[in-house]
Amino acid sequence: MSLARASSDNHAERERWIAGADSVIRRPRPAHTRSVGAGRRSPTSVPVGRLHAVGDAGLLTGRALCLAPVTLLDPAQWRWPDDADELRPLCWTCLALTHAAEGPHTGG
Ligand SMILES: [Zn+2]
Repeated sequence: MSLARASSDNHAERERWIAGADSVIRRPRPAHTRSVGAGRRSPTSVPVGRLHAVGDAGLLTGRALCLAPVTLLDPAQWRWPDDADELRPLCWTCLALTHAAEGPHTGG
């Protein structure tokens, strides 16, 4: 008897990038709000500056791909690079790095 677990980890998952920001402003709680309700969830933190892409290693080191120290954003609310905005432009370095990692860019 041999419990041979042939686990061929053939995960074809694309690398996911966590969005990070230069800084984050934490929204102050409303002092006194009687009206409770409104199922809308508002983000408690607002990113400031540019959005950076954070890889798996960045989750531990707290640094983006461009090695800039960033504050990780909630992946459920912020996505790289979909949440780019005029107010939150993307980091060009991270953008180039993520583009380079997405597809085999041969030639040059
Ligand atoms: Zn960056």
